[in-house]
Amino acid sequence: MIPRLSSGLQAEITEEALRCWPKEACGFLLGPSPTEITGMRPAANTSSRPTDHFEIDPMDILRLDTELRASDQRLVGFFHSHPFGPPAPSAADELHAAGWPQTLWVILALQPGEEGPRVSSLTKWWSTGAEPALMLCSGRSCLPVASSHSKV
Ligand SMILES: [Zn+2]
Repeated sequence: MIPRLSSGLQAEITEEALRCWPKEACGFLLGPSPTEITGMRPAANTSSRPTDHFEIDPMDILRLDTELRASDQRLVGFFHSHPFGPPAPSAADELHAAGWPQTLWVILALQPGEEGPRVSSLTKWWSTGAEPALMLCSGRSCLPVASSHSKV
């Protein structure tokens, strides 16, 4: 079963994405079980190309790991934003996701508007950790994503 995101959590992720715009926001999705998300935690985007890439500071992952050991929460997934769309995962996202099997990936796509950036879509992807690395999820069902990036 695919974890759902409460409207409160969606609002928190949206706020973080808007705060970071035009850079990509990124962070962790936390919950008591792989099928339940109860919180999010922003992370620093340390990419040298932050408007179209994200890299989570490894120190953030270490700190989170230490913190979660002493709690009933675990890492359930990741979120990040695409400040100028599209909602689909990039080749880099697919690579990241392959390294974190059985995690949920949430991409918040934004686009500039006359009164500043606004959300154009929120997409959920499930990392299987195998080929194809990602499944597109809506409601309770997931479909494999055909990679749009040819591998040579
Ligand atoms: Zn991405």
